[in-house]
Amino acid sequence: MITFEEALKLVDDNVSVLGKTEACLGDMAGCYLAENVVAPFPSPQFDNSAVDGYGVKTSDLSSASDKTPKELKLVTAIAAGAPSQLQINVGEAVKIFTGARVPSSCEAVVMREYCREENGSVLIECGAQQGENIRRTGDEYKKGETVLESGIKATPPVIALLASLGHVKFPVFKKPVVTLVVTGDELVEPGQPLKDGQIYDSNAYGLTAALSALGISECKSVVARDTREETRKCFEQALSESDVVISSGGVSVGDHDYVKETLEALGVTTVFWRIAMKPGKPVYFGVIDAKDGKRKYVFGLPGNPVSVLVTFHQIVKPALRKMAGGNFCGNSTLKVTAGAALKKRPGRLDFVRGMLSRGENGEPTAIPTRGQESHMLSGLAKAQVMLHFDRDLEKLSPGDPVDVTFISWHD
Ligand code: AMP
Ligand code: MG
Repeated sequence: MITFEEALKLVDDNVSVLGKTEACLGDMAGCYLAENVVAPFPSPQFDNSAVDGYGVKTSDLSSASDKTPKELKLVTAIAAGAPSQLQINVGEAVKIFTGARVPSSCEAVVMREYCREENGSVLIECGAQQGENIRRTGDEYKKGETVLESGIKATPPVIALLASLGHVKFPVFKKPVVTLVVTGDELVEPGQPLKDGQIYDSNAYGLTAALSALGISECKSVVARDTREETRKCFEQALSESDVVISSGGVSVGDHDYVKETLEALGVTTVFWRIAMKPGKPVYFGVIDAKDGKRKYVFGLPGNPVSVLVTFHQIVKPALRKMAGGNFCGNSTLKVTAGAALKKRPGRLDFVRGMLSRGENGEPTAIPTRGQESHMLSGLAKAQVMLHFDRDLEKLSPGDPVDVTFISWHD
């Protein structure tokens, strides 16, 4: 059986970026930019005030203090958005608001908090340095400068930055179209009555939510009953309609597990099946190149609800990220201290779900949540991290160093 690291490498080797499109700013959350962002103008575009205050000549204030305020003649007020070519002379000041253009004759803006207005003048209680509280043209970037590199995720600040440059839309990489195939005779839609032995389908909802958190909203979900015919019909349809098919259940070695044989019968090439990890051992990954040359990907995830979401987080997410134009980095890890004793058989990596807290000396410590079996969603629902209980280890003791990945569903 391959290791988790080998599986990740195989996914990385087989997955490629899907292609480019354009997205409006309102629809691009979660996309990755497909071109560099080049500034069409400098930022700031014009010298403007960082504060509400008074534009002055610094030499006028060389002796100003709270005991000996300097009186300057107030010539006008300039609000944000107002054009102004006005100039001031020695002995004069201009009232100015945050973001308003600062006339070139003003050498500094004194904060309003140090000033008092009286009879058409302003009394200023402090000195000022050249350029104080003036945001200079091009301070952040110059016209023609590359502000962001292609491949960055369209996070809220990235979208705001595109808007600040006047873009309505921007080239992005395509997000994958995903179909979920949820297998199992025992599954009932939440809200319907349960008969003896039946359970509610939670995987379709967990996976849909996980995809939606990544900005993948184009996702259909179908339930395949445990027959060869229905499993085949569902996968055939799903493969024809999507870039990625993610299934749950039916991928182990049970008598009713038809996923792997069905996919192979449909021409999908198995890249791997089964990884030395827990939860998630029976996970399957395959690829098929369609007639039009487009490659499609299938992730056969296990049925147990915790296994589904752990394998999605650890294996599927990096693949989706790469297809969508981001980096294939596995999820980043952090070294912390184990907060409890753990035991296992060597030979397989365990992803133990845990919470972070502080140890005796304030060190970050990971404590396993209650409910570690792969059907116990409550233990995952409460967890903030997954502890990597390494393949070759048999035990972890409190105080031992351990790697954790943050469970962030959004990236
Ligand atoms: P399987 O791999 O199909 O044998 O499923 C393993 C376990 O996961 C069984 O206990 C199933 O009942 C459970 N399971 C499978 N699919 C789902 C689902 N969609 N929602 C909740 N539990 C499921
Ligand atoms: Mg099943």
